[in-house]
Amino acid sequence: MAERILIVEDEVNIATPTKTYLERDGFVVTHVLNGEDGLRAMEESPPNLVLLDLNLPGIDGLEVCRRIRATSQVPIIMLTARDDDIDKIVGLEVGADDYVTKPFNARELVARVKAILRRAPATAQPIGGTLTHGTVSIDRGRHEVKVAGEEVQLAPKEFDLLWTLLEERGHVLTRDQLLERVWGYTFAGDTRTVDVHVRQLRRKLGEACPVVTVWGVGYKVGDDAAAA
Ligand code: CA
Repeated sequence: MAERILIVEDEVNIATPTKTYLERDGFVVTHVLNGEDGLRAMEESPPNLVLLDLNLPGIDGLEVCRRIRATSQVPIIMLTARDDDIDKIVGLEVGADDYVTKPFNARELVARVKAILRRAPATAQPIGGTLTHGTVSIDRGRHEVKVAGEEVQLAPKEFDLLWTLLEERGHVLTRDQLLERVWGYTFAGDTRTVDVHVRQLRRKLGEACPVVTVWGVGYKVGDDAAAA
């Protein structure tokens, strides 16, 4: 059965080519111009993925995202006008899965849509295991991170990023490798997404955050806690 995409975007010159590309790839696409219509479309015909503009007339994209998240785990890609908006969305933890800065390449966006839809069913089954590093302990089955025994709330992608770096401790991972492993992209995507999430990890874990920047290469967690 064809997968359904809902585009909530008031700018027709952005929505129309995106819709065309998605339809060419076999998706069934509904395009609405504002948040109210978007929420109505969510109820009437739940999509497999939502492309959601941040700056919408009426209810803004952040609020639409929150309201969708209150009832649904459908993947959401936020469409933003500026790079700075990505920080804002990630910081507010509205629950978006990904972010794309306009103007974007429609073909690249379609590739991301496919990547997210491919991995969506896999996230339903948590894989167990625990890792510790210094005062940080992470339990994958429970989706729980603790610093010195105190639980810290991480967004899903922050959690996956920390897990991946800990699993590969001692090795440097490039931004492209992290995008591929954590976000599921198989092409050189928006590596800024990685930086924003690392920043969030540092903010939340403070001194205990074991993630080290390797200039010009990427990120790593040291071999042992003392080295980090
Ligand atoms: Ca807009």
